[in-house]
Amino acid sequence: MTPPFPPEPNTSESGDLPSHPPGLDLDPEAMRALGYQAVDALVERWAGLRDDVPWRGAPYQDLRDRFGGEGPAPEEGEGAAAVLEEAIRDVLPLAARVDHPRFLAFIPSAPTWPSVLGDFLASGFNVFQGTWLGSAGPSRVELMVLEWFRQWLGMPSGAGGLLTSGGSAANLVAVAVAREAAGNPSRPVVYLSDQGHSSLLRACRIAGIPREGIRILPTGPDLRLDPSRVRTAVERDRAEGAVPILVCANGGTTNTGSVDPLAALASLTRELGLRLHVDGAFGGFGVLCEKGARALDGIGQADSVTLDPHKWLFQTFECGCLLVRDPGELDRAFRVTPEYLQDTQLGAEQVNFGDRGVQLSRSFRALKIWMSVRSFGLNAFRTAVAHGIDRAEEVEARVRASRELELLSPASLGIVTYRFRPRGWEDEGPLEALNRGIQGRLREEGTAMTSSTRLNNRFALRVCVLNPHTTRKDLDDLLDRVERLGRDLAEAYRTPGERPR
Ligand SMILES: *Cc1c(COP(=O)(O)O)cnc(C)c1O
Repeated sequence: MTPPFPPEPNTSESGDLPSHPPGLDLDPEAMRALGYQAVDALVERWAGLRDDVPWRGAPYQDLRDRFGGEGPAPEEGEGAAAVLEEAIRDVLPLAARVDHPRFLAFIPSAPTWPSVLGDFLASGFNVFQGTWLGSAGPSRVELMVLEWFRQWLGMPSGAGGLLTSGGSAANLVAVAVAREAAGNPSRPVVYLSDQGHSSLLRACRIAGIPREGIRILPTGPDLRLDPSRVRTAVERDRAEGAVPILVCANGGTTNTGSVDPLAALASLTRELGLRLHVDGAFGGFGVLCEKGARALDGIGQADSVTLDPHKWLFQTFECGCLLVRDPGELDRAFRVTPEYLQDTQLGAEQVNFGDRGVQLSRSFRALKIWMSVRSFGLNAFRTAVAHGIDRAEEVEARVRASRELELLSPASLGIVTYRFRPRGWEDEGPLEALNRGIQGRLREEGTAMTSSTRLNNRFALRVCVLNPHTTRKDLDDLLDRVERLGRDLAEAYRTPGERPR
């Protein structure tokens, strides 16, 4: 491989001054060589992923002096090939591999290769997708992708929205548009479930919903919002002169995958004249397979829905989405046309996505989705989504069959929670210490990366299977390992004449 050299200053034959300052360019051969070097490294990483660890991290102290430490940025270039190599060798591996087949923590993300290439092309073509004037073709493709999503969810025709950086941004836009659509009342109230994602609470804060207007409603033992509880809260708030503007329901909670009764909440909010937002960031694409669609029944009746293609649609970060029943609401809520953008107003069909949300400069996120769905066909995506749901059901069955494992929440949209619980252990304190120990050991040994949570004040181990490469054996091995670690740790806890209750 020829090392790329910075090109000579662009001096004209007459010896005039360079027509542009030298220093930020590479010649075509060097560009190609660097591109191949990057692609080779990526393909090697992908091919070796299963044999690698699912996570590698380091405390700050160990990294203080790495990568240039706290020194100033270098005045002189070090050569692009060397820098690329250092990034690939030293920086990028120090991270979770969230696409590893045994990465089962938080919400995994296992993108397709066409998705990676879509991001790469969107960057290289440097598409500015804030206005139709700036990107007619890309904007048309985004409309098309949003139309796919609308159809998958079963939202009424005409519904649309925009792609965002992620679910947090989509939830923020959903809360802000609800406030605007309600006429920006001075005492707005938003209803959340106690299982709702933290980004919804943050969205309320950013959107200026006052603290006393944020109702976090407790869920029952099934971790679902009870519509009658919503009704009571709304009626009480209205009686006190506040203005309910939005109910936020979950289309798959991050905690346990539980789904609120969406169809019942949709009829309730219709009856009460209120908006319903469904946060389907994690679970929404469950609609692509039969079991998921059944679990999410009613999602298409919502006034707005958040989706995260970078979770269960196998896209690279970043890619979120907000769909609303009437996309005109977004324009009415957010459009501000300063003089310097007057050339961009081309008429209603020619959407300026920059008017629909937070970002004006936006990348072409729809490309990766359009490329990956068209490359493999929707059927492959349906199968991949169903895979996660089926594997999680197997985990549930395996936990139920074990005498030492206790199921804490059943498989729902790819998530199961459970804990190790030896016979005779009753008290929460020792059980938590034991399961914390298991969780820590799993990460240290690199067997699998899982995460924990709390449910009804109990410490829970949690598995989230979204990756189509996660096999039944990966999961069986994990549970075998949890049982073994649990037995060893429980043994270590036992002191003569005394054992934890
Ligand atoms: C991940 C997630 C979010 C936040 O989405 P980001 O893409 O991380 O910003 C919101 N809601 C739910 C249910 C999620 O799982």
